[in-house]
Amino acid sequence: MKLIKRSRVRRRTQYYHRFSFATDPLRGFSFDARSDGRPVLHSREAAALYRRCVSGSVDGREVVDQGVSSYELEIHEPAVGRCDDCGGPVRLDRWTNICPRCGAGYDERGDALQERVI
Ligand SMILES: [Zn+2]
Repeated sequence: MKLIKRSRVRRRTQYYHRFSFATDPLRGFSFDARSDGRPVLHSREAAALYRRCVSGSVDGREVVDQGVSSYELEIHEPAVGRCDDCGGPVRLDRWTNICPRCGAGYDERGDALQERVI
């Protein structure tokens, strides 16, 4: 099998904007954000809730803006090889990897699996 993409680990910083209830600081709302703090709102409902949080009150309860924080993500992207039998791409993310087109098997390094006689 010929590798067409090497495995790699990508690192990304994820930002979020958090609001907590004034009377219960461990509970509240969190929204994905860009590095400059602008929110990334995935739906109309999220946008409406964000506006309520910014206004300082959700359902009559005071919320406190806790600001934008971040955490680091590590994303593993597996190697991809070209199947010896059919030429299709095979993700090498397990000990045993099966070509989705033809069913040929490969190990995590891309070596073809041998049939075993039991
Ligand atoms: Zn194949």
